[in-house]
Amino acid sequence: MAITPLMPVYPRSPVRPVRGEGVYLYGEQGERYLDFAAGIAVNLLGHGHPHLTKSIQEQAATLMHVSNLYGSPQGEAFAQRLVDTTFADTVFFTNSGAEAVECSIKTARRYHYAKGNPHKHDLITFSNAFHGRTMATISATDQAKLRDGFAPLLEGFKVVEFNDLDAALAAIDENTAGFLVEPIQGEGGIRPATHEFLAGLRAACEENDLMLVFDEVQCGVARTGTLYAYEQYGIEPDIMASAKGIGGGFPMGACLATEKAAGGMVVGTHGSTYGGNPLAMAAGQAVFDVIANDEFLNGVRQKGERLRSALEQMIPNHDHLFESVRGVGLMLGVKMKTDSRAFVTYLRTKGLLTVAAGDNVMRVLPPLTIEEEHIREFVDTLSAAAAEYEVPAAAA
Ligand SMILES: *Cc1c(COP(=O)(O)O)cnc(C)c1O
Repeated sequence: MAITPLMPVYPRSPVRPVRGEGVYLYGEQGERYLDFAAGIAVNLLGHGHPHLTKSIQEQAATLMHVSNLYGSPQGEAFAQRLVDTTFADTVFFTNSGAEAVECSIKTARRYHYAKGNPHKHDLITFSNAFHGRTMATISATDQAKLRDGFAPLLEGFKVVEFNDLDAALAAIDENTAGFLVEPIQGEGGIRPATHEFLAGLRAACEENDLMLVFDEVQCGVARTGTLYAYEQYGIEPDIMASAKGIGGGFPMGACLATEKAAGGMVVGTHGSTYGGNPLAMAAGQAVFDVIANDEFLNGVRQKGERLRSALEQMIPNHDHLFESVRGVGLMLGVKMKTDSRAFVTYLRTKGLLTVAAGDNVMRVLPPLTIEEEHIREFVDTLSAAAAEYEVPAAAA
C-alpha cells in the first residue's frame, strides 16, 4: 500500500513540531522555529500559555462534555461575554470555522424563510474568498483548486469581484438573501475590503432587507487590534462567523447574530454534538480573559505598527523579492515578486515559520503575545535569509 495513514491531502513540510513554548516551536531533534504562522492565525497566546493551559486542564478534570441536551452554564456564560462585547445578541458554538460559516449561511437563508420569502436563498460572495472546505463553503468561492472534482456543488451562491461595489449591487435580484464577505481576505492574500465597499454592502442590505454576513474566522478575535475587524470599519454585520483564534488552539468556532437575523433559528433547526461543550468554553473564556481589554488590544495595534514598519524598512534592501506590506494589526502580508510558497518553504530551513497565501503573498501571523525582541529576531532572520535566497528558475 502506497497511501499514507494520514490521508495525503496536505503537502506537509519537513518541519515536525513536537513541543511549543511561547513564540517558539521545537522539532523532533530539538530544532527551534520562530513561529510567525501561529497555526494559521490560531495560537493567539502562543504555545503553552499558562492561563489557557491551566483553564483547559482544570475544566478537563471537572467536566469535559455532556451534549446540548442539557442546560449549559458554561455556554451561557461565554455566549453572554460575546454578546456583551460585539454587535450580536445570540451565539451558536461550532467546532471549526467552516461550521461557523455553514451556520451563518443557514441563519441567513432561514431569516428569509421565516419571513415568508423562501425564494430569497442566494448569497452573493466574492472572488478569491476562502470560507472553508465543506460542500457549502467551497460552493461559496470561485477558487478552482478548492472546487475541482467535488461537483455537483450547492446552488445558491453568486460570486462577483471582491471590492467591486457596483458588481455586488448589480448581482442583487429577487432571490438574494444577502452578502457573505471576509472584511480582510486571509487565504486570498491579506486583502482588506475598502470602507466604501463594506459601507455600500451595508446600505444595500438596509435598502433591500438583506443579510450582511461577515466571515471573520481569520481576521477576528483581536488579530487586527480590535476584538473584531468590523469595529475598525464602523460597519456591523447581521451575522458573523468566528473561529481560528477564538480557542487559542482548542478547536472551536462561533456563529454570532443579531436577534433579528436569527429570527428563523428556532428549536430543532440546527445543532452540533460537540459544539460549545464545557471544555471548549473554558478555552474560549481563557483566551478572552487575556485579549478582551483595551490594554491588550492597543498592544496588538502597536506591535502591528512596529512589525509593519520594520518590514517596510527592510523591503528596499531586497526589492527583487518583496514588493509591499499590507494588512491590519498583526494580520500582515508581504506581497512578493516571486513565488511566495517557495520562499515560505525556504524560510522554514532558516527556522522561520510564515504562511503562504494567494496572490504571491507571504502571511505574517505571529502570536499576539510577541514582544519587541521577537519582531527584531523575525525581521533580522528574514532579511538575512532574503539576502541568501536564490529564486528558483521556474519562478524567476
Ligand atoms: C480558515 C478559514 C475558514 C475555515 O475554518 P476551518 O476551521 O478550517 O473550517 C473559513 N473562513 C476563513 C476566512 C478562514 O480563514
